[in-house]
Amino acid sequence: MQNTQTLLIIGAGLAGAKAAEAARSRGYEGRIVLVGEESRPPYERPPLSKAVLRGEADTESSRVHDSGYYAENSVELLTGDQVEDLDVGGRRARLAGGDTIGFDTAILATGATPRRLELPGASLDGVHYLRTVDDSARLHKAITGAGRVAVIGAGWIGSEVAASARQMGAEVLLVEPSPVPLHRVLGPQVGTMFSQLHADQGVDLRLGVGVSELRGGQSVEQVVLADGRVETADVVVAGIGVLPRLELAIAAGLTVDNGVVVNENLQTSVPGVYAAGDIASAWHPHYQRHLRVEHWANALNQGAAAGANATGKPEPYTRLPYFFSDQYDLGLEYVGYAAPDDQVVIRGDFAAREFIAFYHREGVVTAAMNVNVWDVVEELRAIIAAALPLDVTRLTDPDVPLAEFGSAQR
Ligand code: FAD
Ligand code: NAP
Repeated sequence: MQNTQTLLIIGAGLAGAKAAEAARSRGYEGRIVLVGEESRPPYERPPLSKAVLRGEADTESSRVHDSGYYAENSVELLTGDQVEDLDVGGRRARLAGGDTIGFDTAILATGATPRRLELPGASLDGVHYLRTVDDSARLHKAITGAGRVAVIGAGWIGSEVAASARQMGAEVLLVEPSPVPLHRVLGPQVGTMFSQLHADQGVDLRLGVGVSELRGGQSVEQVVLADGRVETADVVVAGIGVLPRLELAIAAGLTVDNGVVVNENLQTSVPGVYAAGDIASAWHPHYQRHLRVEHWANALNQGAAAGANATGKPEPYTRLPYFFSDQYDLGLEYVGYAAPDDQVVIRGDFAAREFIAFYHREGVVTAAMNVNVWDVVEELRAIIAAALPLDVTRLTDPDVPLAEFGSAQR
């Protein structure tokens, strides 16, 4: 008998695409509908602030699947359309294009959108945000012809765009209200390394100060800092965080608290409705709390887990958070989740930017970041997963093998 079930996936980003792939590869035989508001098939965003922004790679290289994949796997990909209304009780979704799709199971993967500047001059031409392929192409063009680029916010977008803009030969002003770049995630000590990194590359850093106004005629010409200084800039890029796209979930009555709240099986407060990726605030068994993670690996793996779970054999999602970044010749990976008051110790050469930073609570490692040190992530995962109090002095001794702290002591 023909399978008449429908799995509806809302949001054709990385999480949505991986959900479709996982459901099909786990043997789901019903209809799979993947609805994406952007006009392109699913793609990955990390290159948009790096090689694609610099014009070193084309956008085709960042597709999640090759062009034939969706048709070959009977995934109905509806691009350029948006789910406008989600009726989780009636199991129906209304699309902006006019269609109504009935479903048995749904996965929300609507991602996030850049937080906008709210200050005078914010709507001038020349003010950019970076989320999509089109944003990256526009910004590439703008930086190529720019005299001076002002980057507002030294989080991940700001740090990577500042690096790419310098690599493209632009003058760069980087403004961040915190005392160091990436302060909230990495803390003051590790953040100083990024201050030094950007300064060494000729970025004009203004830390501990915000922006109060943008000035110009039609297009931006000046950035007024909160301390009253006036800087010139003909391109402004704001990387001041994102807002999870929760509007559908809220209207549908799902439980929302800094994200769509899901259990460890990625199920929302309504059975048969799942969420994954940037929007999901998922119960994490290791940290015994809900975590909402705004990074590539989370979209990749959580999307796949939601797709697998939607086929009816739920498995808990237990992966430790992971992300990476590349800035100039510095590459890093981060695994785990550190609270703001966790302590940090360094193993390796901090000044040479070749080290591992361990974040810990009374010797129990909660997160670790390897900087220009490679092939250690599995060992770092094992150390975090073991959750044992360690002698941090030995942990920072490069002569003691990392393997000793993970599996051996478990
Ligand atoms: P998204 O990628 O936001 O996709 C959601 C999709 O759903 C979007 O296409 C959206 O238009 C669509 N949508 C929303 N609402 C609806 C609706 N109602 N109907 C239909 N469609 C809808 N992470 C790293 O770990 N390392 C990196 O180096 C890195 N670099 C990055 C660089 C940039 C420039 C950006 C923007 C992000 C970067 N990230 C990086 C973060 C990573 O890309 C995100 O965490 C990831 O894209 C989240 O995937 P997602 O599928 O959850 O959401
Ligand atoms: P982000 O990493 O959250 O950083 C935002 C930065 O802007 C923070 O330093 C923040 O300071 C600061 N800020 C907030 N409000 C500000 C304001 N009004 N003026 C000036 N600065 C302000 O967000 P993002 O850099 O915009 O990145 C967007 C998303 O893309 C995030 O989800 C991020 O994880 C993802 N991304 C990830 C990577 C990667 O993993 N390599 C790369 C690019 C993008 P406070 O923290 O003090 O608020």
